[in-house]
Amino acid sequence: MDVKKVGFIGLGNMGFPMASNLLKAGYTVYGVDVNKENEKRFVEIGGRVGFTPATLSSEVDIMLTSLPTPQIVESVYLNPDGLIPNGEAPLTLIDLSTVSPEVNKKIAQTAEENGIQYLAAPVSGSVTGAEAATLSVMVGGAQDTFEFAIPYLNTIGKNIFHVGEDHGLGTIVKLINNLMAGIHTQAVAEALSLADAAGLSHEKVYEIVNVSSGQSGVFTRNYKSFIEKNEYIKGSFTTALLLKDLKLANHVSESLNRELPLGKMLVDYFESNIEGYAEKDMSSAYLMLTNKTVEAAK
Ligand code: NAD
Repeated sequence: MDVKKVGFIGLGNMGFPMASNLLKAGYTVYGVDVNKENEKRFVEIGGRVGFTPATLSSEVDIMLTSLPTPQIVESVYLNPDGLIPNGEAPLTLIDLSTVSPEVNKKIAQTAEENGIQYLAAPVSGSVTGAEAATLSVMVGGAQDTFEFAIPYLNTIGKNIFHVGEDHGLGTIVKLINNLMAGIHTQAVAEALSLADAAGLSHEKVYEIVNVSSGQSGVFTRNYKSFIEKNEYIKGSFTTALLLKDLKLANHVSESLNRELPLGKMLVDYFESNIEGYAEKDMSSAYLMLTNKTVEAAK
């Protein structure tokens, strides 16, 4: 059998389990991460390392990226030592990171000028979804490139959507999703803080709300996987990444002359209070609020 070679850049909370699912599906996967500990862990599960984005882009026909910020994505794709300047067609690049629609379009244009296929394909479903290969994937880009990418995307996710040929459209859906996840996260924090003040157990409130109108996937995720365990690092979507996405959602909204009253307030609130919580899971918004209340009462 001709074993297909896949490149994967960014072996972090999301990238590592996605790359490991590609390995499990039988692909030969070449991983790159600036954090060499992540590359070491990747070798232990059968991945190959020792490449840079530049050397890898001439080695494989398809490459996926899962990187933290729009700035880092832009540099990995467009810098002189990046993927596109060193890529040799035929090459398909799929960015699974959450960035801005502008960055998607800028990369798309440069890719096209170089004869390289590119999809902007942000994902949703948390680290647990990445591990279980049940992610939702929201793709912007050409129909034929989407069709070529489907087997790879099916390896990492369960619900694969082609949102449109405009490269920024999948990202806009993803930012809408995370605007809602952010507002729900703050709702959970405020709800459990109020429960504390009233002497109600979190479990009792969760049991009742979970079968009532305040129920949400974010309540279950944040409470069951993090707040209940008082564990905010393992499997995290960090508060810093949530704040990045809320800012991106606000930016998109402003560019479309719309208002996001709560979205804007949440950006201001997190910016003023994020110290100590940036690298913890977003559910630590509960700690952010309750610690603040305790401090204020002193
Ligand atoms: P992460 O910080 O855990 O992983 C990013 C990885 O990229 C890290 O291992 C880092 O060392 C590596 N990296 C940084 N700069 C690099 C470079 N120049 N070259 C190579 N590697 C580099 O972040 P994550 O939680 O895995 O998120 C990745 C992306 O997925 C983000 O855009 C995030 O918004 C999005 N996302 C995250 C989640 C989640 O639940 N964590 C869910 C959906 C989407």
